[in-house]
Amino acid sequence: MESNNKEVWKDGKEISPDAPKWALYRKVMTDEFPLPYKGPDRLKDVVVKGMDLLNELKNGPEGPAFLGKDSALQFHYPEVKDQKIADKGMPIDDVIKEVVHMFEGGPNWGHPLTMENVLPNGNTAGIAASMLSQIFAPNIMEGEYGQNAHRAELETSGMMASLIGWDPKLCGGIFTWGGSGCWTYGVKYGLTRARPDSRWTGMRGDMKLICSEQAHYTQQNTSDWLGIGMDNIIRIPCDRTTNGMDMDALDKKMKELHDQGIAVAVVVSTMGTTDASAFDDPAKIREIIDRYPNPKGYGDPLLYCDCVVGWSWIVFKDYDFEKNPLEFTSDVLNTLKANAELYKGIIHADACGIDFHKVGWCPYVSSLFLYKDAEVFEKLLARGKDSYLQVRTPYNPMYYTIEVSRTVNGAMAAWATLKYFGLEGMQAVVGGIEECKYVIFKLVEECPNMAVANPGDTGFITLIRVYPPDIDAKKMYDLELNDPGHREQVMKYNRLNEAIGNKLYEWYRSGHKIDGVCSPYMSFSTGFRTTNYNRDEHDPEAVIFAIKSFPMTVFCTPEVMKHTLKCVEAARDEVIKEWGGTV
Ligand SMILES: *Cc1c(COP(=O)(O)O)cnc(C)c1O
Repeated sequence: MESNNKEVWKDGKEISPDAPKWALYRKVMTDEFPLPYKGPDRLKDVVVKGMDLLNELKNGPEGPAFLGKDSALQFHYPEVKDQKIADKGMPIDDVIKEVVHMFEGGPNWGHPLTMENVLPNGNTAGIAASMLSQIFAPNIMEGEYGQNAHRAELETSGMMASLIGWDPKLCGGIFTWGGSGCWTYGVKYGLTRARPDSRWTGMRGDMKLICSEQAHYTQQNTSDWLGIGMDNIIRIPCDRTTNGMDMDALDKKMKELHDQGIAVAVVVSTMGTTDASAFDDPAKIREIIDRYPNPKGYGDPLLYCDCVVGWSWIVFKDYDFEKNPLEFTSDVLNTLKANAELYKGIIHADACGIDFHKVGWCPYVSSLFLYKDAEVFEKLLARGKDSYLQVRTPYNPMYYTIEVSRTVNGAMAAWATLKYFGLEGMQAVVGGIEECKYVIFKLVEECPNMAVANPGDTGFITLIRVYPPDIDAKKMYDLELNDPGHREQVMKYNRLNEAIGNKLYEWYRSGHKIDGVCSPYMSFSTGFRTTNYNRDEHDPEAVIFAIKSFPMTVFCTPEVMKHTLKCVEAARDEVIKEWGGTV
């Protein structure tokens, strides 16, 4: 062992020029850390350079909807994991260049030709707020580390509670890991309110989680990880036209459980989904919950609203639909009104989940678990004080959150977005996308060999069932839905729609152009609904496949929608050609 006694410091302040190697190494790196005091700083320079590189990945409005020129996957899996940390570090500019390179070929959510899913381009205020949150990195686990940055979480919660109609001063909110995190908080709240002792003893006996058949699959994540057990999920059938939970079926099930003395921890009201835009009616669910209290010794079932993908309809709650100040067209106006009416019901919820990274145009992750009564939730879930953390402010969520360290970036993005958009800005963006949706909706309605498979759907999605050119689409779709004798056709045209969906994906990845413009980035649904004679899904093949248009970007236009339909048609013709002319 050879130690070194070279002088490290000059005047105890600066690294001396002939300092030992570790110190010289560290000096280079120190110069590239963000300066903690005023002065020329490499961070801004590095970020600006990175932004310039990112901007080079953008294609024109007619170019492909992926980033950069090359959509190919640049790694092999699982070999890609065969890595070691290099002995010597890389220059910072090279590191950032490599970082940006990893975005090449990925989806460009803001591109007008992107209409894949509820994946939005972040707005400038939201992205900037989120990025800025990383620099001094307030930790919102507790007041001492969060200080005034806690306003982002508390004020956003208050704004959302006011919008719902809850008393903002009494509400509470926790930004967490996505809509699935919100579900987990909601279910945990229900379990704990039903059996506070379960926090110590663990789950003893069964408690039920009730949701609709359209509820998000994260029901499984939550019940699995919380230890409720996936067998304790009860899925209530949905109305076949609205896709909302069948309230008679819920009533019957709750009565049955009540009569058998089985406790319900939580009833989840799905308030919007990505395929069928299904809404359950929270007011009716509340009535039913109140009718069937849990057995003695249990608290009442909790009503959790999964609003993560639908919440933005509530910005129309107090819109003047008579005067229509933002001048929406009549189709859109009717839809907005209907959705806003449905959304008023969430006032009856005990808690809800809101994804700003979906219909709030924020970057990831920005999800708020919002609860009506802060005192009840925070007392129920309270844990004891820790010896090494001192309470310095009145707000210390670490005592009841599942997470310990929490970034403020999601809360800050949401806060900045609500401030920047205002209610009217939100209305303009949400309503504007709905305007675009109606363009494609109408084009499909007018097209003889395509049918809108979700005509009653009041979300952003148009599901397009595509048929061969010689088929009367509306007639065929009706027969497929209702006549078991047309099961063969359902399967045949499912295969066609799947092949069209895959063709469109292939075209998107390869930058294929139709009339000089790239084809859109879409997806398809393999069974967002069943045929009417297969409501219990006993026949896994008698379900409806369809091509999905899910515009989310503010850059979408009627022209893009027209082009989209042209591409769908071209993809169908190409598939039929490849199949030798028959379906
Ligand atoms: C997206 C979604 C979720 C899951 O949310 P994440 O933010 O992706 O975790 C839950 N429920 C519904 C209805 C969703 O659309």
